[in-house]
Amino acid sequence: MKTLTPHEKYQAVLQNNVTYDDQFFYSVRTTGIYCKPSCPSKPPKEENIVFFLTAESAQQAGFRPCKRCLGSLYGKALHEYMVRTIKDMVHRDFASSLNTTIIASHMHYSPSYVHRVFKQQTSYTIHAYIKKTRMEQAKYLLQHSSFSRLEIAYHVGFKHPSQLYEAFKEFQHCTLTEFVQESIKF
Ligand SMILES: [Zn+2]
Repeated sequence: MKTLTPHEKYQAVLQNNVTYDDQFFYSVRTTGIYCKPSCPSKPPKEENIVFFLTAESAQQAGFRPCKRCLGSLYGKALHEYMVRTIKDMVHRDFASSLNTTIIASHMHYSPSYVHRVFKQQTSYTIHAYIKKTRMEQAKYLLQHSSFSRLEIAYHVGFKHPSQLYEAFKEFQHCTLTEFVQESIKF
């Protein structure tokens, strides 16, 4: 992603440009609040603006979220939104080398914050959720394709076939071989 200059960011704010909403937040010194670029509120003077890459860093600097553009995205709603976004990313990209750090940087939050919220809301770590999703896809391929176990392990994103075997024990509570034998019966 291209790094925006402060001037480009200010132009985005003036235009209420929604395409920049996932790239930065801006805060206004005179009001103490921070907004998304698309916020329809009256644009502040350029000299009163401070830019932040994340909502978290704006919060830490002492700014409060704008009720108008961010009011719906706080507390429980924010956590639900984060979990939904993380699950969407995992379901879309599980076959790539996805991890908590990549997901967090995509969402502009710190890995520890994203990890904490996801664990609280789902009781899974993101790492475990990725493994489980890969295993579910492997289960489908074992039943509906003629790929070998080795091919399937790599295809669903595991770095080593042993991780597929471990995932079966952890989430399916059986060995991969037992699962395959059970599947053949039906
Ligand atoms: Zn706003």
